[in-house]
Amino acid sequence: MSRSTVVVWFRRDLRVDDHPALMAAVAEANAVGGQVTPVFVVEPDLAAAAGVNRCRFIAGCVDALDAELDGHLVLRTGPAAVAVPRLAAEVGARLVFVTSDHAPTGVRRDRAVELALAEAGRRLVAVGSPYAVAPGSVRTAAGRPFAVFTPFRRAWEAHGWPEPTGRPRSVRFRDAPSDVGTDALGGVGRGTSATVLPAAGPGPAAVLLERFLDDALDTYARDRDRPDRAGTSRLSPYLRFGCLHPRQVLAGLADRSAPTGPRACGPLGERGSGAAGFTTELAWREFYADVLAHHPRSAWEPVVAAGRYLRVDTGPEADRRFTAWSTGRTGFPLVDAGMRQLLAEGWVHNRVRMVAASLLVKDLHLDWRRGARWFLDHLFDGDVASNNHGWQWVAGTGTDAAPFHRVFNPVLQRARFDPDGTYVRRYVPEVDAFGYPEPIVDHAAERAEALARWAEARRAAAAEETERR
Ligand SMILES: Cc1cc2nc3c(=O)[nH]c(=O)nc-3n(C[C@H](O)[C@H](O)[C@H](O)COP(=O)(O)OP(=O)(O)OC[C@H]3O[C@@H](n4cnc5c(N)ncnc54)[C@H](O)[C@@H]3O)c2cc1C
Repeated sequence: MSRSTVVVWFRRDLRVDDHPALMAAVAEANAVGGQVTPVFVVEPDLAAAAGVNRCRFIAGCVDALDAELDGHLVLRTGPAAVAVPRLAAEVGARLVFVTSDHAPTGVRRDRAVELALAEAGRRLVAVGSPYAVAPGSVRTAAGRPFAVFTPFRRAWEAHGWPEPTGRPRSVRFRDAPSDVGTDALGGVGRGTSATVLPAAGPGPAAVLLERFLDDALDTYARDRDRPDRAGTSRLSPYLRFGCLHPRQVLAGLADRSAPTGPRACGPLGERGSGAAGFTTELAWREFYADVLAHHPRSAWEPVVAAGRYLRVDTGPEADRRFTAWSTGRTGFPLVDAGMRQLLAEGWVHNRVRMVAASLLVKDLHLDWRRGARWFLDHLFDGDVASNNHGWQWVAGTGTDAAPFHRVFNPVLQRARFDPDGTYVRRYVPEVDAFGYPEPIVDHAAERAEALARWAEARRAAAAEETERR
């Protein structure tokens, strides 16, 4: 085994710029005149459990990464705990560098790889994370994880993050054969394929970021809730797979957010308040990752005790309602537009995600996990931390969730956030025609039913608590 070759294993960090693990690997190799073997592992089990859209997007991102690495990226297939140690043995590497993964599946997988490497005297070295502040880094004054967003955001900002690192220079690669191509990611995965695929890789991500900073940052605070306007960045799939690191986004914001020029009105200026609002959204992403790292079970289990007792409907009628919801045929135009956008584009505006999720849980009385799974199967940005905690927020069962009684009214939400119907008509062109279906449920009645079920769930949780004491 030589000290001179190191492996860099790419996962959800599919870029070369501002990549601390790659920088560390190159520094290690260069210090002894050595070489770097970059690898991406196609893990059939993970691919089969992911959405087909995500698999296609990853394939494009891996091709783009290979191009950035001048064709030196090695592709291997198999469980990572077999494929990574095998490659390390082939190239004689003692060290395998990765960006740390904090989601439960990633943590388990990395532990298995670490053990397998250690058996042969090799080491997995984690440098950096997919977040501006690595999950687990900020704590309350009492040393506990944060359960509430606003103080988390304050502590997160006070903690701060380094400037982007740029890209490594003078990398010497050590090649190894691939045993699979990115086409292995083509047709696998759950759900149905979107008809459009976002351009993959760091290049399109950088273009999108520049465009957002130039054209939409000033109006972000005003427009971010409007699905009928191009008011948000659409960066989520790129952040999800690390084509772009949030540090790079935050650095771009810092460069542009000084309140100057005619748009600077109010204490922050339009640009300043856009930057503050956008930073808050990035902080939500970091908060949910932090919560998941501390409470891995929060991915699929309600955090609030009453959530475990909430009565949900099952059976043929519930299945019919789920089908109406998931295919965009509930008769609530805003929800139907969102669910059809999900199928066609693999992306939905945040406001519409909230309203659609609320309808599933509080009007149709279905288990939020069913909806969360559907979203994960179709979203290009599908991410357990943001998605499942987003669902728990809407369902009123997560840390820092919206109170259960705050039920979105899908009719009023449409009037407020898509006032002239531009968004709805894009996906539901027949909305104004005679015969557009009546809503499948009566919102006022189902809201009352949801609140009654919640009261019942709270009583059951309180009774269990009393019994336990
Ligand atoms: C039920 C539900 C499910 C969701 N599922 C996902 C998911 O699987 N993956 C995902 O990335 N986001 C998810 N979100 C959060 C949010 O809807 C998307 O991040 C956002 O719509 C992406 O569009 P954008 O990049 O234009 O956002 P922008 O408004 O431009 O925001 C910039 C970035 O901040 C982050 N962000 C914004 N809002 C949130 C939020 N509420 N929670 C966490 N991060 C946020 C994203 O990384 C986003 O790209 C979900 C929200 C809800 C309510």
